[in-house]
Order: sequence, then C-alpha cells, then structure tokens
Amino acid sequence: METLRHYVGGEFVEGAAGRFAEVDNPATGELSASVPLATAADVDAAVSAASEAFPEWSATSPLRRARIMFKFKALLDDNMDALASIITAEHGKVHSDAVGSIARGLEVVEFACGIPHLLKGAFSDNVATGVDMYSMRQPLGVCAGITPFNFPAMVPMWMFPVSIACGNTFVLKPSERDPSAANFMAGLLAEAGLPPGVFNVIHGDKEAVDAILGHPGISAVSFVGSTPIAEYVYRTGTASGKRVQALGGAKNHMVVMPDADMDQATDALMGAAFGSAGERCMAISVAVAVGDAGDSLMERLVPRAQSLKVGPGTDSESEMGPLVTAQHLERVRGYIDLGVEEGADLVVDGRGFTLQGYENGHFMGPSIFDSVTPEMRIYQEEIFGPVLSVVRMPDFDSALRIVNEHEYGNGAAIFTRDGDAARTFSNDCRIGMVGVNVPIPVPLAFHSFGGWKRSLFGDLHMHGPEGVSFYTKLKTITSRWPTGMRKGAEYVMPVMR
Ligand code: NAD
Repeated sequence: METLRHYVGGEFVEGAAGRFAEVDNPATGELSASVPLATAADVDAAVSAASEAFPEWSATSPLRRARIMFKFKALLDDNMDALASIITAEHGKVHSDAVGSIARGLEVVEFACGIPHLLKGAFSDNVATGVDMYSMRQPLGVCAGITPFNFPAMVPMWMFPVSIACGNTFVLKPSERDPSAANFMAGLLAEAGLPPGVFNVIHGDKEAVDAILGHPGISAVSFVGSTPIAEYVYRTGTASGKRVQALGGAKNHMVVMPDADMDQATDALMGAAFGSAGERCMAISVAVAVGDAGDSLMERLVPRAQSLKVGPGTDSESEMGPLVTAQHLERVRGYIDLGVEEGADLVVDGRGFTLQGYENGHFMGPSIFDSVTPEMRIYQEEIFGPVLSVVRMPDFDSALRIVNEHEYGNGAAIFTRDGDAARTFSNDCRIGMVGVNVPIPVPLAFHSFGGWKRSLFGDLHMHGPEGVSFYTKLKTITSRWPTGMRKGAEYVMPVMR
C-alpha cells in the first residue's frame, strides 16, 4: 500500500501529520493508499513556498507563463490514459468517462494558453489634454483550491491553470478520498517547466481547510463541494478578508415536454442520471415529465435502466461503475429506503445489485422513483448517486415553478420541439447553466461554470472570463508627463477636459 505525500516547493514531502486517511479501490474494496492529513504547519509550509515563488512568477511575462501551459497541455495529452487509470482506481468511474473528464479539464488548460490575450488591458488615449488612462489586471498572490472527490482532475483544472497563468501561485487541497490525481498533475507541471513553489499540493481534511481559510498569506480561495461546506468556506474565508468563490451541490431538473423526441430524451436521461453513477454536479437527478410525457418516458426508461451494464471501471463494457466509498453507498441506499417510506413509487430498485467477484466493491444498480412530489426529502436533497426521481407536472408553468422553487440552481434542461417553450424556460429559470435538448450543459472553458441560488456562494463563476476576473485585481492608471501644461493646484473635483 502506497503512502502518499504532499507536494511543496517542487518536492514530495512527508509533512508533520500524524493522522492519515485510507484510500480504497471502489470496485474491489481493497485499500490502495494511505493519505496524510495535513496540519496547520503543513499548510503554512506550502503557503511559504508559494509566497516565495510569487515575486518571480508574477514578474514572468504572460507569454512565458503560457508556454509552460502549452507544455503541460501536451504532457496531459500524452498521459491521459495513465491519469484516467488513477481516477478509475480511486474514484471508480469507468475509464472512458475518466478520459472525458480529463479532456474537459484540458480545455481549461487550452484556455489558459491564451493568457497574454486575456490579460490585455484597456487604454484611453488623451482623456484630457496630455493625460492617458489605462487599466490592467494584476495577480492576487497565493491562491488556494479546495476540491471534491467526484472530479479529481477536472475540477482542480477549473482553477489552477487560470490562476497560475494569471501570475498567481497556488496551493491545491484535493479530496482525501481520491488524492493521487493531484500528485500526478504536480509531476506533469514540474516536467512542463513550472518553477518550484508555483503549484503545491496539500492533502487533508477539515483541519487543512480551516488552516487555509485562516491563513493570512492566502489571498483567494476557490472551492467546489457540497453546499453546507461551500457556505462555510465562503463565510469563513470572506470573514478573514479573502476573495472566495464556493460552488456547492445541485439537484438538476430535466423538463420533458409532451412534444419532445422521447427516444432522444430517454437517451439523454440515461446518460445524465446514471453516468459516473450519478456522482456529477451536473447529473440530472429529477425528470419533470409534463402532461402525458410521463407514461411514454417511463415505458422507455425502465427497461433501459434494468439492462444498464454495471461493473468495474476498468471493464470497457461497463456503463456505470461503483460508488466512491462504502459510506457513500450506505448513504445513497438510505435515501432509497427513505423514498419508499415517503410514498414514492420505486419502479427500478438498484439496492440489491451484486457482482460476482466484486462482492466487496461499492456497487449498486440504477434506481428510478416515479410519482415523486416536491414535499419529499428525496426530491429536496442531493442524493449524489444513481437515483432518478420522476415528478409528473400538468403543464409547463408548474414545471418551471418547481425548478425555480428548488433551493439549488446549478443546471437544468428542457427537452422540447417548441422554440417558444425553450426560450421562455431559458429566460425565466433561476439556474446558472441551461440546456435546450442538451442534458448536461457544462459550459466550455471559454465560457464560465457556475450555478445560482445555493449552488454558488460568491460573485464569479469558475474558469473562462469570470475565472480571469476572479484571479486578478483591476488597476487603473491615469498618467500625465511633465511636458504637459502646468495648471497649478486644483481644489475642486478634477474634471477631465
Ligand atoms: P465535500 O463538501 O464533502 O468535500 C469537498 C471538499 O471539502 C473536500 O476537499 C473535503 O476535504 C473538504 N471538506 C469536507 N468536509 C469538510 C468540513 N467539514 N470542513 C471543511 N472542509 C471540508 O464534497 P464531496 O463529497 O467531495 O463532493 C461532492 C459534492 O460536491 C456534491 O455536493 C456535488 O454536487 C458537489 N460538486 C459541485 C460542483 C459544482 O460545480 N457546483 C462540482 C463538483 C461537485
């Protein structure tokens, strides 16, 4: 069993921790690694390394910073398979899905390669006689990223490529449940030529997070995870004067109108509800069937779910892998029990699923509840597993209303052939990312990713233009040279002429 290390100042280090957590392979249940849980002293060592690296890195031209990103992108391409295998071994998702998630992260690296253009400021010539005004964006200093288990490579890549390319240095605290991808990426960044201390990895749990939130040397924190922790990170981080963006949980709805192409909608629901075992922040966990869409949807969905191939992520035939940990499996099973108690109609029950040869894996089959109502906890709370709730609504207005009344506002989709319904839905829903006949509308890297309501705390979404704004501060300079006309002291508010 491997004992993992932190990555500080360009070296893998043991750190001071006496505490460790165990990492297992979700398909077999076998322990694979032991991960150190950092103390405040470990976090402090990483922040010191990042602070030391900041002056030189921030003074490095954006063009040279971009060239390192180009090399990192090429290395990621070459090592995609190896990184995907690490993700499958610790997270459990099927290999092809792991590759897809890395590709989505890699898009952010490609975006960061354009940083010289993205950091271009604005210049106004001669705002008054002989006076010029220009604005530029400067890096913040040391930034930190705290990331969830479900995308151990992609979500960190929503953060550090943009942050580093903007001239910041970075401390990543990945999920302790699948920590190895972060170390692997640290190795690739070093190989790409990133100077020591610009990117650091600290493994840990709440103790490390609290040390980050309270550390005076950290200027900004990007967080992705569940809503209660996102809110805590936002409140605690901003209270200690940091810039914080904290993305939280989700309960994404897909509204299926009666005029939708039902086969297309069924395909979309299958992939979006059960891909990655439902452990995606953009997974569809609620299908809102409008009018008579419900019956035609259920008659297609049920046999598809019953024949879904569940198996280890290393098997290329598997369509859905195990859940991340035994505890999470129990939690998801508990929600299915709850749904039955609450009176929802469990038409596909994944609880009894077993796989020969993988009895200790964290497997379950897909589950579908029909006749779910908004009062039920299985509707209100994020389950984060392969459980789809179908809510039947009489018309478009009531479907839109429940989407808007839900506490989460990450993603939503509408499936319809009616342009008016699609347009009204897109305009009127209180949701950050909307799909029209697209089930998982994850914005590409040159747009920004983020939800509304309790799916995001803070003002700016991640990556894309909002990411550049988050990781930089605006400075505006007004300049006059001494050869200009001398006007003497002015005691009134200056007005440019
Ligand atoms: P989590 O909130 O348990 O953990 C996220 C991070 O916070 C981890 O690094 C973890 O070590 C740390 N953490 C955990 N408990 C903490 C505590 N008490 N105090 C301080 N830090 C703590 O989330 P998870 O289970 O790893 O990931 C799944 C969640 O992430 C889901 O809710 C999912 O919707 C969400 N998510 C959201 C997005 C998005 O873009 N909105 C993307 C991916 C995942």
